[in-house]
Amino acid sequence: MRAAGAQILRGGAFKPRTSPYQFQGLGLEGLRLLAEAREMTGMPVITEVMEPELVETVAEYADILQIGSRNMQNFPLLLAAGRHSQGRPVMLKRGLAATIDEWLLAAEYVVAAGNPNVILCERGIRSFDPQTRNVLDLCCVPLLHELTHLPVIVDPSHATGRRELVPTMSRAAIAAGAEGLILEVHPNPNSALCDGRQSITGEELQGIVREARLLEQLLGGKGSISYVA
Ligand code: PEP
Ligand code: MN
Repeated sequence: MRAAGAQILRGGAFKPRTSPYQFQGLGLEGLRLLAEAREMTGMPVITEVMEPELVETVAEYADILQIGSRNMQNFPLLLAAGRHSQGRPVMLKRGLAATIDEWLLAAEYVVAAGNPNVILCERGIRSFDPQTRNVLDLCCVPLLHELTHLPVIVDPSHATGRRELVPTMSRAAIAAGAEGLILEVHPNPNSALCDGRQSITGEELQGIVREARLLEQLLGGKGSISYVA
């Protein structure tokens, strides 16, 4: 992933799955593997935390804490991420059907509880058309830049649910002014335990990062876009 241009490595150790019969993640063992991956690659890691009681533990292993869509309004979790994340930034994903104001107020919980370092992640909102997993709301990127100083990153993988749409929507996200992309990658997407349909390969990641950098230059950016795989 690093060779392909990723700067931050993301993996889910505790996974909020819709069905209790789906792969639930490896838990603590997953955190240890992530720490090992950081050791080997020098890349910072990001992973999801689902329970307030686990914020401290996850912060010991991860460089950035993810709060997922399903927990965007889990207020005890937001408060714990504000109070106990030991200086780790929090990436707050937009709720499945959250308005921008609800999302910003959720971020405010983390900030008001003591952690000013919140990254907003647009991952698509729920709508009526099953052709895509969600609808990627790119309007929110320039709008959030009007409303807040917080960085905004875009997750075209969960937004579209289809790997063939990910390169185009990555370009669109950068063009809309996103400060980063979070892309689901797997060496063999068809055998992924989770979300294979939206996962791209390392080679495809390389292409997306190359294009995004060119696009950023064209738009006069400062070369500060982050790539999370
Ligand atoms: C994820 O990032 O793996 C995830 C579960 O995404 P979301 O919370 O956006 O559904
Ligand atoms: Mn996923």
